[in-house]
Amino acid sequence: MEAMLGKIAGELGKAGRVLFITGAGVSADSGLPTYRGVGGLYNDGETEDGLSIEDALSGECLAIRPEITWKYLAQIEHNCHEVEPNAAHRAIAALEQQCDVVVLTQNIDGLHVKAGSSRVIEIHGTLEERYCAHCEMEADASDRTVPPRCARCGEIVRPRVVLFGEMLPGAALDGLYREQRQGFDMVFVVGTTAVFPYIADPVMRAVRADIPTVEINPARTHLSDMVRYYVPERAALALPKIVELARELKSKRGA
Ligand SMILES: [Zn+2]
Repeated sequence: MEAMLGKIAGELGKAGRVLFITGAGVSADSGLPTYRGVGGLYNDGETEDGLSIEDALSGECLAIRPEITWKYLAQIEHNCHEVEPNAAHRAIAALEQQCDVVVLTQNIDGLHVKAGSSRVIEIHGTLEERYCAHCEMEADASDRTVPPRCARCGEIVRPRVVLFGEMLPGAALDGLYREQRQGFDMVFVVGTTAVFPYIADPVMRAVRADIPTVEINPARTHLSDMVRYYVPERAALALPKIVELARELKSKRGA
């Protein structure tokens, strides 16, 4: 394991532009139950309202029974406010001192931004922002009323997150494509099962282009056999080591 981390750090030390794709596993190291069902808040897959969590957190439910969607959104928000960025978030943010870093995250908890990463594509949106779909007014994300209402028109507001059954935000996708066109020297995929094409594609492109790829995840995924380095470890343990090793190698080379 240590030898592999050393090799990864060696490649990272030479990289100018690095993409980190992160998922629920990174947030889990902060103690956050995962949003999409695996473990945590909705273990049995069904809410006390008799709906699956997917149905309760769907765009359709928000439209017809917003009080139900908001009941669960409020629980998720509460959990997100309880937690802080962990060593993995901080290591990714600190890497900006060594090279260009782009973060593509599925997480809606805002922890990468909170840790100080400056280029974060939140592909599923963020709970840190809300707006009124009726009059487009930005809404106060710290309002704890359930369901929260628009200060201007009184309609129920929504968080700027992608609910089940909704499209990905165009601006986030455009941001991803723009970054992709500039290319990357190295791609990390961390704590995600990578089942969505927009998560797996950047990894597959890098594999095909023979760009170094690293997967960090305690459990194997369909990407594990394809990446150059598969690290079966928690992100909060592996990433700080890799980033620190890369920094040491770089300063040795510079000396
Ligand atoms: Zn409004």
